[in-house]
Amino acid sequence: MNEEARKDWDTYFMDIAYMVSTRSRCPRRHVGAVLVQGKKLLGTAYNGAPMGVPDCSEAGCMIAEELEVVEQDGKQEMVKKQRCVRTIHAEQNLLLFTDRIDREGSSVYVTDEPCWTCANMLANSGVTEIVFHRSYPKDSDKVNEMMSQKGIVFRRLQSYEPPRETAMTVSN
Ligand SMILES: [Zn+2]
Ligand SMILES: [Zn+2]
Repeated sequence: MNEEARKDWDTYFMDIAYMVSTRSRCPRRHVGAVLVQGKKLLGTAYNGAPMGVPDCSEAGCMIAEELEVVEQDGKQEMVKKQRCVRTIHAEQNLLLFTDRIDREGSSVYVTDEPCWTCANMLANSGVTEIVFHRSYPKDSDKVNEMMSQKGIVFRRLQSYEPPRETAMTVSN
């Protein structure tokens, strides 16, 4: 596969991940993920509350405050960050709704760089490649290190631009 052809498939599957992300009802974050084997789409998922349970658009986000280490002017500082913990992350939903046999040797396209928990689960899921677009600096170092230890291809689509209609719009 030459580099040009590969870029096209990357765009194609990342576009689908972004389309899927528009299903999310969390106003803080829309994440979409798709499972791909070769050029075949085997599953889609987005971040959301468990089925049958009020979601963020109905019950509001469930905010948790966490301390996070942030680099500022070369110094590390503890900063308080808010996170919505109501939703199951897209990557975890993807694992819940796909079969192990389909994941073996497959790729995951996900709109956002996986958090540490999702990365850990993906690393044990059978997938051999993870492609993302928006970076998530909080967990990036340890996630990258773990992926290289596992031999999982972990790459960011730097110059990718999401379809305009997938920009976050949540109506309550
Ligand atoms: Zn939420
Ligand atoms: Zn996650």
